[in-house]
Amino acid sequence: MKNHSSVLIIFTGGTIGMIKKDNRYIPVKFKDLISHFPELKKLNCYLEIISFNPPIDSANINEKIWIKIATIIQENYMKFDGFVILHGTDTMAYSASAVSFMFQNLNKPIIFTGSQLPIGVHRTDAKENLITSIEIASKLDFGKAIVPEVCIYFEYKLLRGNRTHKSNSHDFNAFSSHNYPPLAKAGIDIDYNFNYIRKSATKPLKIYTDIKNNIGVAKIFPGISKEYLKNVLSNMYFDAIILETYGCGNILNDEWIKNELKQFIDKGKIIINKSQCEAGSINQTRYETGQFLEELGVISALDMTFEATITKAMLLLHDYPDRLSFKQKFQEPFCGELTIKNNSL
Ligand code: ASP
Repeated sequence: MKNHSSVLIIFTGGTIGMIKKDNRYIPVKFKDLISHFPELKKLNCYLEIISFNPPIDSANINEKIWIKIATIIQENYMKFDGFVILHGTDTMAYSASAVSFMFQNLNKPIIFTGSQLPIGVHRTDAKENLITSIEIASKLDFGKAIVPEVCIYFEYKLLRGNRTHKSNSHDFNAFSSHNYPPLAKAGIDIDYNFNYIRKSATKPLKIYTDIKNNIGVAKIFPGISKEYLKNVLSNMYFDAIILETYGCGNILNDEWIKNELKQFIDKGKIIINKSQCEAGSINQTRYETGQFLEELGVISALDMTFEATITKAMLLLHDYPDRLSFKQKFQEPFCGELTIKNNSL
């Protein structure tokens, strides 16, 4: 029996692996950065690193990269106790959400982390983020993972990946999870919030890689024109649209908007209602300005983040293109991304 736990680090890029050149940050190879991490050699953990070549700014992430990350994890799943994904912060919450939906029956940790300042900068937050992520990813209790979930670890907090949103581009404390408590907090010790951590799966791991990007987003704002919405809704490419609504899921209830939305739904297409608020849940029956959406067949995103809403929809559109089966699956919790009373895990 091995006496060290083992972690695979997948370096995709992001600020954590950038240097300053001509007054802006550009990515460099992880091997050129490893010299900044002498601590890694002292960890009581076997580490291997797979690096994207070239590393990418996470603004360039797309569904193909999610498939690449998930496939690397799948291919190495039996060999390692946990996985740490070094990723830019800009789209980390999207990638963590997507990867969480791509795996079923996970029983190992997949921890996304990165930093707000590059590793070579004196005040960098990269070291703490990476070292603690490795510690969490490698932590076993009687041979079983403590946190068998896709998470984001950042600035002393471990958050469920598909509940997380990048809410600050300046502070080290860049991520929030408004609708779910942290899974752990790191201080002198790492205090795990065991009541909120998912249980390990016992069935074999399954991976889903059919992701469709024929989805659009329409943000509602006071004064929105018919022309704008009509343009989005008449685009033949889109099978689904996320409406970014006010409060608990309300929008103007003028006749023209009802007609535009109805025409889209009558074509057999899908409209999802996601609030512009980060905390709280959609309730399409509280106000008249939401009730008509419910009656039209608009699908509530409940208390999911925007990142979870769009990535879950992208994965479901392939297998559940019709509205009713899509709705049933979409509103079912896959891996803790939404709260159903007394059943959020
Ligand atoms: N643009 C960078 C990225 O997301 C920002 C970061 O890593 O913090 O890759």
